[in-house]
Amino acid sequence: MDSSASPSLPDRTPVAVLGATGMVGQRLVERLARHPWFALTEVVGSDRSAGRSYAEAAEWLVSPDPPPEAVSLPVLPAGSALRSRLVFSALSSAAAAELEPEYAGRGHLVVSNASRFRMHPDVPLLVPEINPDAVELLSRQQWAAAGGGIVCNPNCVVTGLALALAPLHRTFGVEAVLVTTFQALSGAGYPGVPSLAATANVVPFIAGEEEKIESEPLKILDADFPISAAAHRVPVVDGHLAAVSVRLRDRASLAAVSEALTGFRGEPQDRRLPTAPERPLEVLTAADAPQPRRDVERGGGMTVSIGRLRADPVLDLRFVLLVHNTVRGAAGAALLNAELLAARGLLRNPTPLPTAEATP
Ligand code: NAP
Repeated sequence: MDSSASPSLPDRTPVAVLGATGMVGQRLVERLARHPWFALTEVVGSDRSAGRSYAEAAEWLVSPDPPPEAVSLPVLPAGSALRSRLVFSALSSAAAAELEPEYAGRGHLVVSNASRFRMHPDVPLLVPEINPDAVELLSRQQWAAAGGGIVCNPNCVVTGLALALAPLHRTFGVEAVLVTTFQALSGAGYPGVPSLAATANVVPFIAGEEEKIESEPLKILDADFPISAAAHRVPVVDGHLAAVSVRLRDRASLAAVSEALTGFRGEPQDRRLPTAPERPLEVLTAADAPQPRRDVERGGGMTVSIGRLRADPVLDLRFVLLVHNTVRGAAGAALLNAELLAARGLLRNPTPLPTAEATP
């Protein structure tokens, strides 16, 4: 993390996390504890967790211990009044459908991981390296007058896929994509996939996943080429792997493709946002790369690894990509989105939020 431009710690912006106890919520809590701009102030959970301390409520899995700042935070019930204008959501989809608009209507900027509002035409589906100007949609949302809004990051596979396709589409024109995924267990949240289904097995179905992979990249890239997806759950802890074949409009050598991928940068790198990786995409040349165990933490989990770049005898080009599903595909993506909002001055509060005590 580059903290050279960060405000001093007391000046950090207070933030809340909805769904803080889940897999993505834990990654948010972990990363917020060392964030130079944002300070974790409030956590919200379901009836199961409300009223307990964060350490009691969360089945902490992402590191040895939860950060000291989070341990004794009380888990607030869903719908509680919050002081933080910036609210990260790691809610399950059903809870997000109800709670995200509720908080947006109360003047909170909700930076969401959930799928519920991603495809709404007024909601930015943001990958800041690709479509940072999508934040302008916030002004069209029904909650804008109250100072609130919803910004989404894409599905975890889609973040990696869109990042890989963006430079290819800009440079050579993408005409068709086939993608077969091998997705980690943490992608299903906690407790997630039952152990007897997950252990030493592959499950060739993830509900709703193929539809998201086939639609979300087109909104992000403002494109209309066909994508065919096949999603599989595999016994890996973190890191979604995807085998991708692409048909290109223009002829492209493998060297030119590699150069386009390697050189890809965007606004997060230009602005040196704290969560921005130096390289959004890294092309690996080892014959057996990328692998989740070896490569998932590249760029602090924010770099998408690409390997096995080669010609495809059916389409034009094929490669394998690896994305850290709970970091670049979820918590890290949400943090980068919020940092973009902050850097563009969109977190300045137009109307003061009511204090927690004053709100019914
Ligand atoms: P998870 O482990 O199942 O966590 C779900 C969270 O939602 C928990 O904190 C849970 O709180 C909370 N919750 C559920 N119902 C609630 C309610 N009625 N009111 C308040 N809180 C409620 O799921 P996850 O994997 O972290 O995923 C969270 C979201 O991110 C989902 O929408 C998912 O689709 C999306 N996402 C996940 C990934 C990934 O790789 N896992 C990647 C991208 C996007 P309690 O613990 O208190 O019950």
